[in-house]
Amino acid sequence: MVGAGAGGLAAAHRATELGARVLVLEKARRIGGSAALSAGILWTAPDLDVLRRIQPDGDPVLGPLLVAGYERAVQDVRDAGVAVSEEWDDHLEWGRACKIDIPGLFAAWSKSVVAAGGSILTEVRDVDLVQGDDGRVTGARFVHDGERITAQAGSVVLATGGFQGDPELTQTFIGHGADTIGVRSNPCSVGDGFRMGRAAGGAASRHLSTFYGHTLPSPLPVIPEVFLRLTLYFSAYGILVNRSGRRFTDESLGDEVSDQRLLLERDHRGVLIWDDSVQRERALAEPYPSGMVLDRFAEARALGARAAESDTLEGLVEQVSTWGVDRAALARTLADYSRAADGDEDIALDAPLPERPSPLHRAPFRALEVQPCITIPFGGLRVDGDARVLDRDDRPVPGLHAVGADAGGAQDLRYVGGIVFGLVFGRRAADAALRSPAARPAGAAVGA
Ligand SMILES: Cc1cc2nc3c(=O)[nH]c(=O)nc-3n(C[C@H](O)[C@H](O)[C@H](O)COP(=O)(O)OP(=O)(O)OC[C@H]3O[C@@H](n4cnc5c(N)ncnc54)[C@H](O)[C@@H]3O)c2cc1C
Repeated sequence: MVGAGAGGLAAAHRATELGARVLVLEKARRIGGSAALSAGILWTAPDLDVLRRIQPDGDPVLGPLLVAGYERAVQDVRDAGVAVSEEWDDHLEWGRACKIDIPGLFAAWSKSVVAAGGSILTEVRDVDLVQGDDGRVTGARFVHDGERITAQAGSVVLATGGFQGDPELTQTFIGHGADTIGVRSNPCSVGDGFRMGRAAGGAASRHLSTFYGHTLPSPLPVIPEVFLRLTLYFSAYGILVNRSGRRFTDESLGDEVSDQRLLLERDHRGVLIWDDSVQRERALAEPYPSGMVLDRFAEARALGARAAESDTLEGLVEQVSTWGVDRAALARTLADYSRAADGDEDIALDAPLPERPSPLHRAPFRALEVQPCITIPFGGLRVDGDARVLDRDDRPVPGLHAVGADAGGAQDLRYVGGIVFGLVFGRRAADAALRSPAARPAGAAVGA
C-alpha cells in the first residue's frame, strides 16, 4: 500500500485478514493522513434513490457499491474492537452516519498488519512503481532511512489521498485560481498516487474539476487548528454573495457546493450573511452529533476575520461595503431575496431561492467574509468496482489498484463521504488483489 490513511490501512488490514504479508509505505512521519485530522464521521447516502438525487452524474458502478458497502465498513470498525456511535439518519439532512474512533481503528489495524509479519514504514520518500515489460506492476522502489529499496509485490494499492496539495494539478484540472486556495487536508497528498498511476498507464477519471472542501472565514490562514473549529457548516442556511453584492449559488445545496462556486468568483471571496434565528438554531447548534459547539462568528472575529454585526440591515450593508462589496447591489440582493422568500414570484434572482429560504427577519444580523478551501478532489485515477486502475481503453493495468481520494469519478458535485470511500474500496481492492491468481504467488506480499 502506498499511503497509510483511510484507504491504505483498510486495504492493508483486509489483505492481512486474507493471509497476505503487507508492506505499507507512508510519506509522513505519522500514519493517518487526512482521516486522522477528520471528524471521524463514517457516512454516506442511505440508499440508491438518495444517492442518485445527490449525485446524478456520479459513476454508476462505484456509487452503488459504496452504498452497498457501508454496513460492512461499519462492521469492520466494530470487528476491530473500536467504538462506533449510534447511527443518525439526517447527516447533511439526508445521509446515514456514525462517529468512529479513527486513532483507535488505525492503531488496531496497524497492529494486525505487523502481527501478521507485515510492515508499516513512515517517512518514506521517492516512491515509484516497478513495472514489467508486459505492463504488470510488480512492486515499488522507494527511499527509507537513506537507503533505496525495491520491494516485489503481487499488487500495489495507491492510497496517497488525492492531489489537493499540488498547485499544478489543482490548477490544471479544477481551474484558474484553484492553486491559490487553502488546503484543508494533510500536507502530503500532492498527487503522487495520481502521477504514479498515470505513468503506469492508468487513465484519469471523470469529475476532475470538482472537489470537496468547506468555506472558512477570511482572511485567516488555513491551518489545521481551524480545520474543524471554523468550518462554516451552517452556510447552507445563510445568504452568500460575491464582491459584486450578488448571490451565485443556491446555498441550500450545501457548504461543499458553495465552496466550489466561490472559487469561480472574483478574488475567490464571498460574504455570508445570516440573521439571529439562523445564528441560534444553526450556527450555534451541533453541526452533527459530537460536532464542536461554538460561536464560529465570534471566534473568527476574534482571530481577525472580516466580521460585521448590526441591528439593522442598512447598518450591516454599510459595514460590508467597506470590504469592497458593492453596496447598492448588496442592498438590492437582500431585498429581492426577502421578497422572493415571502412568495413574490416576479423577482428575477441571480441564483435559485433555496426550497426553505432563510430571509433576514430577526436582528442582530451578521456577516462574515469567507474563502474557499479544498480537502480532496473528486477526480483521480479511473478505476472499476474492484478499485483496479483502468487505462484509456478501460482495461485494467495489471497489479495496480487505487482507493480513497486517489480514485476518482464516483462523486460529481455534491459530497457523499470521504472516509467511507477508503474503507469500502480499500476492502474491495484487497479482495480483488488476492482473488487474482497472478497477484498471489504463495506467501507474496500485497503492497509495495
Ligand atoms: C478536517 C477534516 C475533516 C474531515 N472530516 C471527515 C469526516 O468526518 N468524514 C469523512 O467521511 N471524511 C472527512 N474528511 C475527509 C477524509 O478525511 C478523506 O476523504 C479521507 O481521509 C481520504 O482517505 P485517503 O485514504 O484517500 O487519504 P488519507 O486518509 O489522507 O491518507 C493518505 C495518506 O497517504 C500519504 N501519502 C501521500 N503521498 C504519499 C507517497 N508518495 N508515499 C507514501 N505515502 C503518501 C499521506 O501522508 C496520508 O497519510 C475530513 C478531512 C479533513 C481534512
